[in-house]
Amino acid sequence: MFARIPSSIVLGVDGHPVSVDEHVHGGLRGLTIVGLPDASCREARDRVRAAILASELTWPIRRITVNLAPSLLRKVGSGLDLAIAVGILVAGGVLDPATVDGLAPIGELGLDGTVRPVPGIVPLVDALGDRTVVVAHDNANDARLVAAGTVRSVSNLRELVDAVSGRAPWPCPSHAPTVLPTETRLDLADVRGQPLARRALEVAAAGGHHLLMSGPPGSGRTMLANRLRGLLPELDRVTAIEATRIHSAAGESLAGGLIRQPPLRAPHHTITTVALIGGGTASLRPGELSRAHGGTLFLDELAEFPVTVLDALRQPLEEGRIRISRSRFQVDMPARVLLIAAMNPCPCGEAGRPGRCSCTQAALARYRRRLSGPLLDRFDLRVDVLRPDAEDLLGDSVGESTATVAARVANARQIAEERGVRCNAELVGAQLEHWAPLDSSGRGLLESVLRSGRLSARGLMRVRRVARTLADLDGHDGPIGSGHLALALQLRSDLVTMRSAA
Ligand SMILES: [Zn+2]
Repeated sequence: MFARIPSSIVLGVDGHPVSVDEHVHGGLRGLTIVGLPDASCREARDRVRAAILASELTWPIRRITVNLAPSLLRKVGSGLDLAIAVGILVAGGVLDPATVDGLAPIGELGLDGTVRPVPGIVPLVDALGDRTVVVAHDNANDARLVAAGTVRSVSNLRELVDAVSGRAPWPCPSHAPTVLPTETRLDLADVRGQPLARRALEVAAAGGHHLLMSGPPGSGRTMLANRLRGLLPELDRVTAIEATRIHSAAGESLAGGLIRQPPLRAPHHTITTVALIGGGTASLRPGELSRAHGGTLFLDELAEFPVTVLDALRQPLEEGRIRISRSRFQVDMPARVLLIAAMNPCPCGEAGRPGRCSCTQAALARYRRRLSGPLLDRFDLRVDVLRPDAEDLLGDSVGESTATVAARVANARQIAEERGVRCNAELVGAQLEHWAPLDSSGRGLLESVLRSGRLSARGLMRVRRVARTLADLDGHDGPIGSGHLALALQLRSDLVTMRSAA
């Protein structure tokens, strides 16, 4: 007898429909799985047999061939177990084919017949259109986020068989509503002093401009970076769905909710290229960069990251996505992030201060070489962060709160949207000419800076975009003048690190 059960697999962050075709026929008894299964998928053979027997169902004492189509797609993981088991029961005559019509099971089977949740349930369910999906209880809430059809959940194989054959209703577990831990919001008002760095943070959030902060340990670089998240607006619906798919594919539980808050990922400098960019395993899991999609990627101690890892960032930063090619297929993962990086001005952190800095000239030169020009060029904003002085720490002047600054940021983002982009960092070519024209004072300033050779053509575009954001934050919508351009140039200063190289 023959059975065909729809299910799906995930590669990268996308689900792909898979047809599980099964044939039970005469010949030597046994189970063969074909159609490019990987090792974990081939092991389904043992799990499925044990689960069917443990559920007191009949295992056909004949030859069973399972074909996973399309055969060009590598089948990774154990999520097809449940579909294979249902197919065997249909082909073996235990279940009437009509009872499972339109049903798409997704789940791993335990040896005792338990149905277990699988990673990537959001893209998996998404790939199945309006079919009725059957998943493990722990996957049900996440599955409902994207399901176009009905979502059923079971705790074991027996429950599924009883439900489809009408012997028992579908289980409906009374899930206690998931309580998400309330996030302690870090407020910008806690940061003492640092007027330039605070401004840079606001501009980064408002315009989507990448920011590099250079300063000695204890200057508050990390404190500032951690407060960026509170300044960014909630994700729009399209980005929220993309982020949700990514986090599901990465194996995280979503507690049944779309990801609305911009994520913040802060990988350590010992991270590998694969862990940052994604790929690696056969299923090509998304890396930290994709998991920061829609939010912030914070690289602390930027100069400590291996050069190969930083080089791998360049292309995705430019395109906002990651492409990984394998011989048989290509995976495309969204990775649109705001990059915030922090570094010491020199290996010891004292930046050549006489009597304090213990770095040799050779060590300083080596340190600077670690950051390639093309990567530094990606940062529209480059600011020195100094240790706050006693007056800053003891004085009672408190800076603006996160709520105040976030309101200005939201307003600036709204203005950018009216220009047809998400933020000013996306303004290119004619758009930039159109939306950020210069007045005569602005033109004069840029001409003199360009003549001095301190600004490249690419740098010029970046300065104009940042000046547009500064003007938006100030509520100025006319041509850009020298005031905003001068501040944009100041926010893109050559850092202490780079200056002392000269
Ligand atoms: Zn030093």
